[in-house]
Amino acid sequence: MIENNPAFRPWNGPHGAPAFAQARAEHFPPAFEAAFAERRGEIDALAADPAEPTFDNTLLPLERLGRALERVAALFFHLVATVGDDALEAIERDVAPRLAREGNLLYLNPKIFARIEALWAKRDALGLDAEQARLLERTRSAFVRRGAALDERGKARFAEIAERLASLGATFGQNVIADERSFALALTEPADRAGLSDGFVEAATVSAKARGAEAPIVTLSRSSFEPFQEFSERRDLREKTFEAFFARGARDGAHDNRPIMAETLALRDERAKLLGFPSHADFKFDDSMAKTPDAAERLIASVWAPACAKVAREAAEMQAILAAEGGNFKLMPWDWRRYALKRRAAAADIDEAALKPYFSLPNIIDAAFYVAGRLFGVSFQPTDSVPLHHSDARAWVMRDETGAEAGLFIGDYFARGSKRSGAWMNALRDAESFEGRLNPVVVNVMNFAKAGDWKDCQLSLDEARTLFHEFGHALHGLLSQARYPSLAGTNVSRDFVEFPSQLYEHWLETPEVLRRFALHKDTGAPLDEARIAKISAARSQNQGFATIEYCAAAFVDLALHRKREANARYDAMAIEDAELARRAMPEFIATRHRTPHFQHVFAGDGYSAGYYSYLWSETLDSDGFEAFAATGDVFDPALAERLKTYVYSAGGTRDPAEAYRLFRGRDPESGALLRKRGLA
Ligand SMILES: [Zn+2]
Repeated sequence: MIENNPAFRPWNGPHGAPAFAQARAEHFPPAFEAAFAERRGEIDALAADPAEPTFDNTLLPLERLGRALERVAALFFHLVATVGDDALEAIERDVAPRLAREGNLLYLNPKIFARIEALWAKRDALGLDAEQARLLERTRSAFVRRGAALDERGKARFAEIAERLASLGATFGQNVIADERSFALALTEPADRAGLSDGFVEAATVSAKARGAEAPIVTLSRSSFEPFQEFSERRDLREKTFEAFFARGARDGAHDNRPIMAETLALRDERAKLLGFPSHADFKFDDSMAKTPDAAERLIASVWAPACAKVAREAAEMQAILAAEGGNFKLMPWDWRRYALKRRAAAADIDEAALKPYFSLPNIIDAAFYVAGRLFGVSFQPTDSVPLHHSDARAWVMRDETGAEAGLFIGDYFARGSKRSGAWMNALRDAESFEGRLNPVVVNVMNFAKAGDWKDCQLSLDEARTLFHEFGHALHGLLSQARYPSLAGTNVSRDFVEFPSQLYEHWLETPEVLRRFALHKDTGAPLDEARIAKISAARSQNQGFATIEYCAAAFVDLALHRKREANARYDAMAIEDAELARRAMPEFIATRHRTPHFQHVFAGDGYSAGYYSYLWSETLDSDGFEAFAATGDVFDPALAERLKTYVYSAGGTRDPAEAYRLFRGRDPESGALLRKRGLA
C-alpha cells in the first residue's frame, strides 16, 4: 500500500518531520511513481477546468500542485546528499531526467498556460493585492522561462534539452564524489605527519577507520584538505594532495566530466537561443537583480585589480619568509596556505590555530541561536523526538516571540565518507499560510571533521563562519511569512539569496557574541579582549587570496556562458585557461573551483552564470551590516525589525532591490564591500 510507504506518506512525524529513519532506497521508486501519477492527475484536472480562469481557480491549484512529489523529492535528495549509498545514487541517475520530464508536463501544457495568459492580460482589473500580483507575475515568468510560449517544435526540443541536462548534472556531481572517494593519502610514517596537530591526526584516524584503514589519512574533503595544506611541513605531500584535489573530475576513465561539460554548454546555449536570448548568461541574468552579465563582470573586476595588487605584495613577503627558512623554490598554490599562515604570524595578525580551542561546535550553534533571538525574537529548543537520517544529526524546534512552535530545524554537521562535500541549507518544506499555516522544515548540512563525541568538535574561525552562513539561509526559510509556498523563504533571485546568509556571518565576529560564546574548551575562559578586538577588526585578513580564488571562478563561469562564435568549441577547460590567462591570474593561487569539479555550475543549473551572486550579495551584506554598526548597537531593534520584515521573512514577495531599499532606507553602495575585504 502506497499510503504506508515511508517515502511517500504525508509528514506526520513529530513537528512535521518526514520519515527520515524509515525511508530506504527501495521505497523511493514506487513513491516517485505514485507522486508522478498524483501530479499528472492534478495537471489534467486544472487543464480541464471549464470555468473562466480566476486567481483562485488557477493560481491556488498551481500552489497546491505536486505536493506529494515535492515531499518525496525533498526527502530523497536530502538522503542522496547526506547518506548517499550506491542504491540511492542509481535511483538518482534514473529519477533526474524523469523529474525534468514531469516538470515539462506542467510548464508545456498549453491549456494551463492559456489560463495564466488570460489572467495576465487583465491583471490590473483582477483586484489582486501586492503578494497575489507578485505570485501571478512570478508564475507567468516561470512558465515562459520553461518554454511555455514556444511553438510545438520548440516545446518538444526544449523538453528534450531539459531532460538531458538533468541527467548530465546528476552524473557530473556523482563523478566528483567518485574521484573524492577514490583518493586517500595515508600518513603511515611519523615523518608524514610533520607539522600536523594532534586534533588533525585524530580526525584523520577516524576517517581512516571509516574506510577500513589503520594509518591516518588525508582526504579531499575541505575539512581535511585545507588544514593539511596549511600545516603540513611536507611540501611533496602538499603538492600530491593539491594535484589530486585539482584533478577531480578531469581524469580519463569512467568518471571524466570533460565530455559532460561540453555537452552541457552546448545544450544550454541551444536552449537560450530557443527562448530568444543571445546566450545562456543573458537568459539567466534576465531573472536576476544584476540584470546583465556586464553589470556582474564590472563588479568582479572592481575587486579583482586591488586584490591582485594585494596578493602580489603578500606573495613577495612569503617568498622572503621561505627563503629565510632556507627554501629554494618558487611559491606555488600548494605553498600559499602554509606561508600565508607564517606571514600572518610574522605580521602579528591573528593566529587562527590558537583560536580553535575557543570555538566549540555546541557553543557556535548556541551563538547562532542567540543572535536569532536578539534580532528576531525566536528561540530554539533541542528535541530528541524526531528520528533522523543519521545518528550525528540533531533537531531543534523553533518558537516565535509568543512561544508558539514555528518551524523545525535540523543540523547535520560532520563529514562522512559517502556524504556530499561542502555546506548547504535545504528547505525540505517551505512555510505557507494560504490554506492554514504549515511550518517549515529546514536542514543545515556541513562537513566538519569529527573526532570523538560531537560535543568535543572544535571549529576554525572559517568553519564557524560557514555555520553562521548556513544558519542565515536557514532563518530565511524558517522565518518566512509569505502566504504562498512558491514565494516563500529562499525562493528569491539567486544574486539576492546569499544576502541573508552572508549578512548573518557578521554577527559571529562582534565582541558581543565572541565574549559570550568563544570560551576555551578546557578552562571555559573567554577569549582575551585583545584578540576579540583583532577578530572584529580583521575581517579583511587573507581577503586578497579569498577574492582571487573566488573571482577567478566567477570570471570563468561568465566566460563559459556568454555569447560565443557560431562555430566555437565547448571545451570548458580551454575556455577556463584562456579566461584566466586574459585576467592575468596569479600563478601562486589556484581558482577555487576548476571547471571539472565546479559543482555550482555543472551539477545542476542553479548557479550557472550565477557564481558571481556571492559577490553581488556581498555588496548588500557589507553595506547592510554597516547600518547596524553605525547605530552603535549591532542588535539595533528598529533596524532588526525592518530586516526581519523586508528580508528574512519576506521571501520572494517583493522585488529584491525594493526589499533592500525598504530595509536600508536607500540603495546599496559599493564602498562597504571594498572596506570589508580590506581592498579600499
Ligand atoms: Zn550560501
